[in-house]
Amino acid sequence: MARVSADFIEEVRAGDFNAEDCMNCGVCTAVCPIGLELLPRQLFRYVVVGLEAKVIENTDTIFSCLLCRMCEVNCPAEVRITANVKFLRAYINRKVFKLMRN
Ligand code: SF4
Ligand code: SF4
Repeated sequence: MARVSADFIEEVRAGDFNAEDCMNCGVCTAVCPIGLELLPRQLFRYVVVGLEAKVIENTDTIFSCLLCRMCEVNCPAEVRITANVKFLRAYINRKVFKLMRN
């Protein structure tokens, strides 16, 4: 069962992550060259509400992003998508893979 993690929310708020302005419009998915369905809209929502387990469950998706910025340049809400992806990678590297840096 997915549970909200207060610690995760605190780390996200303190870090370089911001998806509050996402309108869930779907433009990012439509323009993504590899058709990532989850990233960024659904996955970022998991982050904002603190569903850490759902984020970690999707580690493969987070690391499959090409960081090409196609989604970002077309995002009507100017969400800094690639910075968010990098934040999540660093978080997973630290918490899951026990690495100090990504
Ligand atoms: S294009 Fe931007 S506003 Fe639209 S769903 Fe993606 S991140 Fe959210
Ligand atoms: S940065 Fe990642 S999510 Fe965005 S369009 Fe490129 S591959 Fe897709």
